[in-house]
Amino acid sequence: MRFDVITLFEPMFAAVTENGITSRAMQRGLWSLYTWNPREETEDNHRTVDDRPFGGGPGMVMMADPLARTVRRIRRSGNVGRVVSFAPNGTRLTDETVRRWVAEDRDMVLICGRYEGIDQRFLDNYVDETVSIGDFVLSGGELAAMVLIDAVVRQLPGAIKELSTLDESFSTGLLDAPHYTRPEVWEGQAVPEVLLSGHHANIAKWTREQALELTLRTRADLIEKAKASGKLSETDRLWLKKHGYPV
Ligand code: SAH
Repeated sequence: MRFDVITLFEPMFAAVTENGITSRAMQRGLWSLYTWNPREETEDNHRTVDDRPFGGGPGMVMMADPLARTVRRIRRSGNVGRVVSFAPNGTRLTDETVRRWVAEDRDMVLICGRYEGIDQRFLDNYVDETVSIGDFVLSGGELAAMVLIDAVVRQLPGAIKELSTLDESFSTGLLDAPHYTRPEVWEGQAVPEVLLSGHHANIAKWTREQALELTLRTRADLIEKAKASGKLSETDRLWLKKHGYPV
């Protein structure tokens, strides 16, 4: 999968190209990244990419033309994929969307806003989808773009062991259960006994119940969603009923 990112801060993307799973996946040829600075598409001496907002108000707005020229250049270079921009007013990024994009396997062009945002006419004419990564305001779209890239790339076939992504948070309909590793006793606390039993059915039952309990406690909305999408088993329902949450 190919990502082309339009950004004023190209070096930031070393965070995903040079570290961990995403870096290894890139070395294996599972994805590629090209960054483009819209300043390269300006014609004035100052290489201006922003200007004051019409109608007044604080801050600056990214001009439509340098961004549009950059998108056209990216198109000519061969990326004909989905164009995504980032903003708090976008559609919230979810595991579901990430998995859909991985399945569709289309290249992406990511537009990173800065300042107060981007001229609306560019968004209307060039952008397919606007994505938010949460209800807070970042100073630029770069971190949001890297969140999207990381979430997508780790799901690409071959990026990590298939099994690891199958039982993660959200894919099971619930949040992930707690994890433990050696030593068996640490700061006076022992690992839950069942995990040392070697009894696979009991371990699976315990893990599922932990996930149910945690999800119920912190994200009851996900229980409703899991129910609606048929991700709760009869055993899950019985457990939830027993714990005062009939579904
Ligand atoms: N004036 C805007 C905030 C601009 S922040 C507002 O009030 O909504 C500058 C840039 O950071 C945005 O153009 C966007 O690219 C990025 N950004 C900020 N918050 C974000 C979020 N929650 N999700 C995704 N991108 C975000």
